[in-house]
Amino acid sequence: MDDLQYGTRNKRGDWAPNRPVETAPLFVFPPRLMAILKWLPHYFLPWNVIFAASAVAYWAWVIPTINTMQTFAIGWIAWLYAVNAICVFFFYGAFELHLYVLKRQENRFKYNGKFPAEQKSKAFWFESQSVDNILRTFLSGVTVWTAVEVAMLWAYANGYAPWLSFTENPWTLAVVALVVPIIHEFHFFCIHRLIHTPFLYKRVHSVHHNSVNPSPWSSLSMHPVEHLLYFGTAFYHLILPSNPILMLYQLHYAGFGAIPGHVGFDKVEIGEDKLIDSHAYAHYLHHKYFEVNYGDALIPLDKWFGTWHDGSPEGEARMQERYRKRKEKLAARKARVEFGGTAQ
Ligand SMILES: [Zn+2]
Ligand SMILES: [Zn+2]
Repeated sequence: MDDLQYGTRNKRGDWAPNRPVETAPLFVFPPRLMAILKWLPHYFLPWNVIFAASAVAYWAWVIPTINTMQTFAIGWIAWLYAVNAICVFFFYGAFELHLYVLKRQENRFKYNGKFPAEQKSKAFWFESQSVDNILRTFLSGVTVWTAVEVAMLWAYANGYAPWLSFTENPWTLAVVALVVPIIHEFHFFCIHRLIHTPFLYKRVHSVHHNSVNPSPWSSLSMHPVEHLLYFGTAFYHLILPSNPILMLYQLHYAGFGAIPGHVGFDKVEIGEDKLIDSHAYAHYLHHKYFEVNYGDALIPLDKWFGTWHDGSPEGEARMQERYRKRKEKLAARKARVEFGGTAQ
């Protein structure tokens, strides 16, 4: 597969797509019906279908009975942790093995020409991005994920969360299912913007940003506080007319859905001539530049707040202009402080 048909590679070996990243054609006025119809299959395939199907599979084979979940007990909680950990291990591990260990597509479609294993860094536990990221994923990531899942299932089992049945309210639940990714996008943008404030960035979010060149295991490599905020997206179902399966879909969208954005490749090659889009470029640019693309462009929040970078020269110029303005502001503030200091 010739990745230069789709993008360019610079002298450092970094690949970038030719086409700028597009925001989803939702929330635009006037509505673009044709664009929405063309975009719709990408909304479902392949990622959202996988996360929704995994939620159904969990409900069928993994989640304990309502009676069991009415009281907290170590047995069923440990069982859920184990299943989550095994699923994460195989799902994340498959990407890691295919792209980073066996390097089956070498650096074709890879944004950053280097592989993290080539660069040791003191920022990571044991100076290794993979070891650090894997430990954080299982020690804190899967633990907090399971804790939120257990709390929500307990709430459902005890009648504390609105639970509609699919047979009686199919249309309401279909709408909620469609909105799950939009809830995620809204929630993620808000908490992400929050943890980019200096106090929380330094103490919490910098852990995630240690992976400037993200790889699959970076997806859930976060500080525990960020894990709680991130998986807190399931708590919307405490007030939404919903169903535990849709709550699980919301959780899986966060837990398994973190991976495409951190895969580090624009397209994953399947066999000889099939390509799957990762839609990772916007979030890759966030890891590269820190102050762009707080969201994933499903809702054009970054456009509305002026932090959108689509990878084009215009996007780059807008970002540089923001940097310049901020530098000026900082310099002006510094001058004021110094002037105030000498005047006293
Ligand atoms: Zn990230
Ligand atoms: Zn960030």
